[in-house]
Amino acid sequence: MVSQASRLADVRYDIRGPVLQRARELEAQGHEIIKLNIGNPAPFGLFSPDAVLEHVTASVAGSQGYSDARGILEAREAVTRYYTRRGVHGVTPDHVYLGNGVSELIVMSLQALLNPGDEVLVPSPDYPLWTGAVSLCGGRAVHYRCAEDLDWNPDVEHVASLVTPRTRALVIINPNNPTGAVYSRQTLLALLDIARRHDLLVLADEIYDQILFDGSVHYHVAELAPDLPILTLGGMSKTYRLAGFRSGWLVVTGPREPIAEYLEGLELLGNMRMCPNVPAQHAIPAALDGGIDITPLLLPGGRLRDQRDHAWELLTAIPGVECYKPAGALYLFPRLDPEVHKISDDQRMCIDLLEQQHVLLTHGTGFNLPSTDHLRVVFLAPVETLADAIGRLGTFLATYRQ
Ligand code: PLP
Repeated sequence: MVSQASRLADVRYDIRGPVLQRARELEAQGHEIIKLNIGNPAPFGLFSPDAVLEHVTASVAGSQGYSDARGILEAREAVTRYYTRRGVHGVTPDHVYLGNGVSELIVMSLQALLNPGDEVLVPSPDYPLWTGAVSLCGGRAVHYRCAEDLDWNPDVEHVASLVTPRTRALVIINPNNPTGAVYSRQTLLALLDIARRHDLLVLADEIYDQILFDGSVHYHVAELAPDLPILTLGGMSKTYRLAGFRSGWLVVTGPREPIAEYLEGLELLGNMRMCPNVPAQHAIPAALDGGIDITPLLLPGGRLRDQRDHAWELLTAIPGVECYKPAGALYLFPRLDPEVHKISDDQRMCIDLLEQQHVLLTHGTGFNLPSTDHLRVVFLAPVETLADAIGRLGTFLATYRQ
């Protein structure tokens, strides 16, 4: 018998757990499933512009060797220019680390930081890799509340109340997955102040920094707090629609001296994996310097904007369903009013929805939300598909009881 490492005992990643497993079984039986469960643009016909792909193709022959462990200089320079253009100062290619997606860099950044029992402040709801990776690295994710009645901004007083002598870092996911919130400047400044007062490393996941609706503004925390050590993460998966390339970056800003030892650890881990996939790194300069602009998809008449609006209207027309209209990212996070829909097990509800209506959504507790009254709907699909899926959800909810 081969048993599992005990360090995995507390690691949960339900968004790819039993609901997805059931979807696979139904597909194997020949059922067609409408999948609105993953923020993967390409299967919905949202592709990267040809110019990016052509640059990568032309670079393949020259990509046969390992690169610098931090990634190719050309791409790290492009990331440096990107943040400099956006008002973040003090970025240099030496402090840019490329990775096989933000996912790899999330795990590396925490592996280099945490000792057993160290605490990390993580939003609830969160993109659950953050919570899972903290546990994997022996730490404890302490969840701070993001409040629906504050347009899902973090409840700053709650964040402050959770700091203990074991707290090492503060995770900020902005724009947020799964809520679609884009945090106000005031909220961000208050969060940064907590980090400043308690000497916390700020880990800012800003992978959706360009996916914004209705004129909402995204602030890079690295711009707002140049005096703090901050790790900002971003990548090619969403704005540039290259999720399969597994290509992302981590940028260190602020004073280096207080985190010099930590950075040595990060370098060590970067060296141990040799380097990130080299051909995929070539997409970075092509996209960031190439003037690839996602805003046509986000403005009125643009595909993502239309899909968000249609999905939001259809969802909120279902009796007992309310939803914050997302200001960013690719997700709707509707609430099922417990007075109308009494759901005690939201994962069970998603499995029942799947079995009865062949629609795959993700349950709110999968994002470390403590209550069982939310669902996440990805709005990448064309309007007709969203209408079909949300229609089926309405039919399901009309009679569903737990
Ligand atoms: N961070 C957030 C907030 C995400 O939503 C996702 C993917 O959905 C990731 C990171 C993973 O990004 P990558 O594809 O670069 O690993």
